Amino acid sequence: MSNTHTLNEHFIGGEWVASANAATLPIINPATAESIGTLTLGNAADVDRAVRTARNAFASWSKTSGKERASYLRAIAQQIRDQAESLARLSSLNNGKPLGESRMDMSDAAATYEYYATLAEQLDARQGVSVPLQASEFASTTYLEPAGVVGLIVPWNFPFVTTAWKVAPALAAGCTVVLKPSEITPLVEFELANIARTIGLPPGVLNIVAGDGAGVGAPLVDHPEVAKISFTGSNRVGERVMQSAARRIANVSLELGGKSPILVFEDADPQQAAELIAAGIFFNCGQMCSATSRLLVHRDVAQSVLERLKAVAEATLVGDAFSEGVTMGPLTSANQLQTVCGYIERGLAEGLKLLTGGARLPRPGYFVEPTIFLDVPSSSALWREEIFGPVLCVRTFATEQEALELANDSDFGLAATIVTADMERARRVARGLQAGHIWINGPQAVFPETSWGGFKRSGLGRELGPWGLQAFLEVKQVTQPVQ
Ligand code: NAD
Repeated sequence: MSNTHTLNEHFIGGEWVASANAATLPIINPATAESIGTLTLGNAADVDRAVRTARNAFASWSKTSGKERASYLRAIAQQIRDQAESLARLSSLNNGKPLGESRMDMSDAAATYEYYATLAEQLDARQGVSVPLQASEFASTTYLEPAGVVGLIVPWNFPFVTTAWKVAPALAAGCTVVLKPSEITPLVEFELANIARTIGLPPGVLNIVAGDGAGVGAPLVDHPEVAKISFTGSNRVGERVMQSAARRIANVSLELGGKSPILVFEDADPQQAAELIAAGIFFNCGQMCSATSRLLVHRDVAQSVLERLKAVAEATLVGDAFSEGVTMGPLTSANQLQTVCGYIERGLAEGLKLLTGGARLPRPGYFVEPTIFLDVPSSSALWREEIFGPVLCVRTFATEQEALELANDSDFGLAATIVTADMERARRVARGLQAGHIWINGPQAVFPETSWGGFKRSGLGRELGPWGLQAFLEVKQVTQPVQ
């Protein structure tokens, strides 16, 4: 694999096109903090060119059958499967996650394109369906039409996967796309352009403009020809996206932050609980919107669960994505390292007790220890704010009601995990939690067929499943008197 990656062009109209802008950003390997390449940042002129190209391509792409679009989606999936190993390596190099996690990402991305291929095929039979009316003197039929040119903006924590969650349904719906990957992890995202060329996706259907938020993200959101914005990222930026979109009543979907709870009841198996807790906060170095970063453990099992959790956390092998046995990589960027270390220092300054961790690793790169704070009051910023790193906050509870109240006492509502031997209780608590996705006694498995998105400030709308496709469709009703 080459150590110098020069990304100085955008993918527009099926071609690599020189950027209208000269500004660059280094591409960093977070395991060494060294530059491994250069990204040329786009600007508003690049965005405009990509949007106009996508608008021209929309005329024919929107008229293709779902079956035809499905064949392209399946071809993308096949390419991802064929190139999975090299794509996973590129992703780990730039994001820092252990290679095994990147391999899972590639498999998830391929499955997403395959799933939306099936939904694209089914879309043909859903056109012109008549609606039964109470008023028998009228007839009405429904059409599901592509929204238009869509702007897709993604973060750096699950490159290729978050992108697949947007690109696959958008193409399935018949939309044409301008994608803005994160400027932090462009390496693997750019490979999607090569895949589009390899499979002969019609030019202009998928366009990729590299750049940062100000130079590319904001002009994309503001572009009058962009019918819909689908954004995944922070609440800070999500609010700005929604405000900008409001000025021209553009449709938006937002997948934002989280501060998700994991609830461990007194009948839970302590070892299983410890492993689920650790996976929920240390996978991807805690850089998951769905990270279960608040542990609520019943006081009767707290000691045995925490003893085991300490052992699991301290057995985490932190290191380079490509080293044998590594289970946690570095944080992905210097900024994220600063943010996470800032929260750890704040916790220590608040006098919070550490169960384990609390330090940066004394080596190059953005490595921190798996960190667990005990008895964190709900007034603490560490309990309330998204840290986006391997930092867990723990509290105990005495009753199911107290656990539910503490779990729901959050601005966010993305996900939650319940660990209990009592299935009746698991179902009851699941219904009581204000969260978009809940796991019972299992890891954070997310399937293309199920929904993804949050309650409260975790976002607006849902990705994946039929909801993910619907997000890129306009509903058209055609009504007439019966002759
Ligand atoms: P971010 O908000 O800083 O950036 C996300 C994307 O938005 C990047 O591509 C960035 O360049 C772009 N951007 C920045 N400013 C912009 C602007 N003014 N207009 C348009 N685009 C702009 O987020 P991040 O640091 O890349 O990602 C971490 C955040 O993403 C966390 O808060 C996390 O919870 C969230 N996230 C949510 C989900 C979910 O499904 N809910 C999934 C992954 C990440």
